[in-house]
Amino acid sequence: MTLERLGFHTDPKRMLPNFYIFQALTASKQLLGEDGFKSVINRATSILPEMEKYHDENNWPPANTDLEIKAIYYSTIFRAIEEAGGGRAQLVDIGIKTAQIGFESLGPAMKTSLLVLKKLPGFRWRAGAVLKAVADDLMDVFPGDRELEAILFQQDDDKGVWRFTDRTGDSCWGRTGQKKPVCHVYRGGLIGAVQLATGYTTSVKEVMCMACDDPACVFEIDFEPIGKAKDLKSGS
Ligand SMILES: [Zn+2]
Repeated sequence: MTLERLGFHTDPKRMLPNFYIFQALTASKQLLGEDGFKSVINRATSILPEMEKYHDENNWPPANTDLEIKAIYYSTIFRAIEEAGGGRAQLVDIGIKTAQIGFESLGPAMKTSLLVLKKLPGFRWRAGAVLKAVADDLMDVFPGDRELEAILFQQDDDKGVWRFTDRTGDSCWGRTGQKKPVCHVYRGGLIGAVQLATGYTTSVKEVMCMACDDPACVFEIDFEPIGKAKDLKSGS
């Protein structure tokens, strides 16, 4: 697979929808608690002083799709959680929580799909349909993304995985030179979407990451679940 690099990942003018940061802040505060959340925002503020405003919930953006958030704010939250000592499993759980918040509020394609899903037989059909809907909803948020194929959703029958390719690099915006993929919250978002549609947890691996100087963040999602969602939170 050859992927051409898009310029968003390091574009200082890259703007993201308000709901991205709303979900990230809401999920982080719910899972880390008041004190944990406070140290994350303190850490974020030391990386980027503008982040200080997020201590106050009144400064959080609304959960809409207007493109008003600097991409660096979004990636800085996740970097701050890592630097404040958050492990991979914690980041994945935050991602799962963002999927739950997202399902409650946004995504017409996703909502329609969920209704259809309940009539589909078996894990594989449901998981495939919801992941396709996630890709569609993400592309609908950004004008031009569909033409650019900024997000690709493919099925690899030989390997037994769906491949979710994100060429925007938004969740690790501006990060480079990392040795291992860093988009655990994104990974959790995909795990969460599958859980909500099927009741099962599946393994999601990030096999390429723009923070590692790859041309895209690429996630591979197993066709087979590894357990019931209530028993396994993060699947990592
Ligand atoms: Zn990545």
